[in-house]
Amino acid sequence: MEVVRLDLPNKEKWDTERYWLTPYNWIDEVRSKISPPERVVLHDATIREGQQMPGVAFKRDEIVMIAKALDELGIDRIELIPFLSKDDEEAAKELVDMGLNAKLLSFVSWKKEDTDLALKLDLEGVVLDFVGNPWQGKVFWNLKPEEIIERGVNAALYAKDHGLYVVAMPWDDFKAPLDFVEQNVKALTEAHVDRITICDTYGDALPWAMEYVMKRLKKAADKTPLELHIHNDFGLATAGALVAVASGVEGLHVTVNGLGERVGLLSLEEIAVALEFLLGVKTNINLEKLYEISKIVEEISKVKVAVNKPIVGANQFKYTAGWITWMHRKAREAGKLTGMLPFMPEAVGRQLDYVVSKGSGASFVAEKLAELGITVEDPEKMKIIARKVKETANTLKSTVPDSLLIKIAREVLEKEGK
Ligand SMILES: [Zn+2]
Repeated sequence: MEVVRLDLPNKEKWDTERYWLTPYNWIDEVRSKISPPERVVLHDATIREGQQMPGVAFKRDEIVMIAKALDELGIDRIELIPFLSKDDEEAAKELVDMGLNAKLLSFVSWKKEDTDLALKLDLEGVVLDFVGNPWQGKVFWNLKPEEIIERGVNAALYAKDHGLYVVAMPWDDFKAPLDFVEQNVKALTEAHVDRITICDTYGDALPWAMEYVMKRLKKAADKTPLELHIHNDFGLATAGALVAVASGVEGLHVTVNGLGERVGLLSLEEIAVALEFLLGVKTNINLEKLYEISKIVEEISKVKVAVNKPIVGANQFKYTAGWITWMHRKAREAGKLTGMLPFMPEAVGRQLDYVVSKGSGASFVAEKLAELGITVEDPEKMKIIARKVKETANTLKSTVPDSLLIKIAREVLEKEGK
C-alpha cells in the first residue's frame, strides 16, 4: 500500500506549495455531484451588517478606513448604509469621490427616500432589503403575500429606472413557503434586477436543504444570478455557503471577522480561503491581506477575534509542543512545506508561531530560548528551567510570554552558575 494516494486525480488542486489537503475533495464521485461557477462575487456587509451587532458603531473615518482596506483586499462590492447617521452619509460621499474599484451600494428598504439618498450620493447601486416571508409580512405590516411581491418589484423598478445596479434581498426565505419564494424570484427577474440574494437569515438550513432550495430557485431565477446572505447561528454559515456555491450560487455576502446581528454573518476570511483551497472556486480576494484587515476591523469594532477562530484566530498557526515541532521539521525535510499545517501561514498573511506552555518539553523550551538568544549548555539546568516553565504555565493558565521565559531561565542560570 502506498503511504499517500498520489495516484488520485487533480493532484495540482490539493497538493501545492501553499497547501496539502484531502484529495477526496477532488475525486470524480464528489465532483460529479456539484456544479460551482468558476468565480464567485464577494459582497462585503461589514459596514452595514456589522453595525447591527450589539455595541458596534463606526465613525466616518473608520468607515472610510474599512472600505479602503476592503478595496485593497480585492472585494467586489461594499454595502454602505448612508441613512443610518450623518457619519455614514458623509463616509459614503467621501468614498464615492475616492473612486474605488469595488462597487459601492447602499442598503435600502422599499421606501423611495432610501433610494433617493443613494442617488443623491451618486452610489452605484442598492441592496434592496425587504421581507421575504409572508408570515412576517402579515404579522408586522399586515401585507398580503402578493403585496409583498408588488412592493419589492416597484422598489426595484424605481431603482432600475434611475440607472442603479440592483441587488434584491428578500429576507427569511428559508422559512417562507418555497412556492412563494419562487414567485418572488420570478417577479424580481422580470423586473430585471441585477442579482437576487436569498437569505438564510437564521442560518438554520442543513447543507442538503440548502442544495434543494437553491437548485429550485436557480430555475425560477432563470439567467439572473443568485446570491446568498447566511447567518451563523448554528455555526453552519461557511458550510451552507459552500453548498450554495456548489449548487450554482454566484455571489456571497460576507463580513470581516463574521461581524453581524446576533452571532454574525458568513466570515469573509473563512469563505475566501475555503472557496479557493477546498472548492477550487476563484474570488478576487488577495488572501495574503486577510489577516491585516481582520486586525483593522477587530481594532475598530472592538469585537475581539476568538483565539480559535479559523484563519485569523491567534491559535491558527501556533505550536506549543516539542513533538509537534519535531514532526513539523521532519515533514518539511521530507518535502512537505506545510508540515503539520493544513496550509502555509504566509498564504493568509501570517507566520508560524512557537509559544511555550504547559505541554512544552525541555527540548522545545531550549529551542525557544536559543531563538531568544539564551543558550543552556547543562542538560540538568535545562530540566529545571523546563519544570519551572510548566509550573508557571499551570499557575497562569496560559502560555508563558517570552519576557517571563527569559526571566525564569536567567534566574536558574544565575543562581546555580552557568
Ligand atoms: Zn443579515
